[in-house]
Amino acid sequence: MIAANLNSTTQSQLLEGAAVANQIKQEVRAEIERLLAAQKKAPCLAAVQVGDDPASAVYVRNKILACAEVGIRSEHHALPESTTTSELLELVRSLNSRNEVDGILTQLPLPKGVDETVVIDEIDPQKDVDGFHPINVGRLALGRPQLTPCTPAGIIELLDYYQVDIRGMNACVVGRSQIVGRPMAQLLLQRDATVTICHSRTRDLAAETRQADLLIVAIGRAGMIGREHIKPGAVVIDVGMNRLTGPDEVRAMFGSEATKRLEVLAKKGSTLVGDVRPSDAMEVAGRFTPVPGGVGLLTVAMLMKNTLKAARLRREL
Ligand code: NDP
Repeated sequence: MIAANLNSTTQSQLLEGAAVANQIKQEVRAEIERLLAAQKKAPCLAAVQVGDDPASAVYVRNKILACAEVGIRSEHHALPESTTTSELLELVRSLNSRNEVDGILTQLPLPKGVDETVVIDEIDPQKDVDGFHPINVGRLALGRPQLTPCTPAGIIELLDYYQVDIRGMNACVVGRSQIVGRPMAQLLLQRDATVTICHSRTRDLAAETRQADLLIVAIGRAGMIGREHIKPGAVVIDVGMNRLTGPDEVRAMFGSEATKRLEVLAKKGSTLVGDVRPSDAMEVAGRFTPVPGGVGLLTVAMLMKNTLKAARLRREL
């Protein structure tokens, strides 16, 4: 199903995430019901949160709620800010050893004093539902993926749902993080796209992105990508999640369309925006994802799918 055209003067279509996320969650729920009917245990996800970063708390809460929605059992391990790397490693080892735990996620970023890499490396690759362990990263690079990072995997689901034919497309990924950009590029390559990866040292970003039939942006800078970066008719996926807190910033990003956003700002103190200027995408792109309401919804849905997959693989269900 393609979302309705927002602007009658252009061909732009919104690629909304809600329908895709709901479909993924429904499929997971149906599969879990089948497992339960066959007297098998439902999968179990252990979510580890360290410190009291408010954004992390919201993300973990949403993940736990999604577990309840689809029938995945969950455990929430909330540790204080003062937790040391070795204390966290001890928890990870105990979760690794518990047979009833199928998936382990450590909510990032971890506090400054904790060595993130050491902690990720300690997670049992079979329980690594975020897909960040070197074994899972290596499997993806070899074209033999098992557990892949949720955000890029969700983007592939979104493209499939909206019947974007990835094969042979010129795809450009802006951003090369371990969480989004790199695995995104690998997944696109696996689907036979011709992939360019851009980053902060790319000499002429617009010259690269304008070649792209499929432009995926994961930078973390509000509205950095504008009309000059977008090939007319391209599919544009905006991964960025940035919070604007000032009315001037909101007006600069949304121009004459700023009224609604200014209302959100007045009510909530901030408004969530992507890396792409929406009014420019609306005019130039063929299809694009909104922020909020696009990619963000898919990450949690894919975590549910990965937890089920981890349980199936490890328990040979
Ligand atoms: P990182 O900060 O880890 O990576 C940002 C990337 O953008 C880097 O590779 C960096 O290049 C590149 N970059 C920075 N400035 C420029 C520039 N001027 N031109 C070109 N490239 C640039 O961020 P993440 O990948 O973790 O996240 C990116 C965005 O996606 C954030 O807004 C984040 O909140 C959002 N996000 C959204 C998710 C969702 O569920 N919707 C999930 C995960 C992230 P270099 O490597 O050279 O420094």
